[in-house]
Amino acid sequence: MIIVLMGPPGAGKGTQAAHLSKHFNIPHLSTGDVFRNAMANESTLGEKVKFYINKGELAPDQVVIDIVLQKLDQKVFSKGLVLDGFPRTLSQAEMFDGELVRKKLAIDLVLNLVVSEQELYKRIEKRANENVTRRSDDNDKILKNRIEIYNRQARAVIDFYRKKDLVFDVDGAQTANLVLTTILNKLNLRIIC
Ligand code: AMP
Repeated sequence: MIIVLMGPPGAGKGTQAAHLSKHFNIPHLSTGDVFRNAMANESTLGEKVKFYINKGELAPDQVVIDIVLQKLDQKVFSKGLVLDGFPRTLSQAEMFDGELVRKKLAIDLVLNLVVSEQELYKRIEKRANENVTRRSDDNDKILKNRIEIYNRQARAVIDFYRKKDLVFDVDGAQTANLVLTTILNKLNLRIIC
């Protein structure tokens, strides 16, 4: 099973991805986490992406796609995965699609978590205040930039998947539990039909 979670920063993708990963017993792959870990370990990948992450910009498509394809080849992902934060651009979506076709795999569902900007800023502020170790990309200016970039890039990705009838829009302003229930109902229906 391959599930893609879309949604702006602060929409709750990470929370839902973790629940879905547990529920379906498939790993959760967050490209943002991969990059943050790489930066913390000061690896070559970390060096490559830190310039972008610290500014709230997207990492280059090829760097991202290489990482995802490497992961897809690992045995742990053979039963599927929950993708969180990927694809972020139309070219990532197209490259990923080509690779899935080659591997005779297919995305089951693209979950689009919809949250208003006002609500996002509220949540992000709360998260930043609660975190002792504030994420280096979590400050207002950078965050605003990330949300703007998301709005600019995501539409094309969502349209790409909408044409394939894969998108399920979920009201992400609901409680996390309600969002999860809505998603699970949809996925169960999808599996049965
Ligand atoms: P996230 O935790 O998903 O919000 O990702 C944090 C940061 O990692 C983003 O602001 C980007 O700089 C980078 N990043 C994560 N995923 C991608 C992606 N699919 N394409 C480009 N950059 C990404």
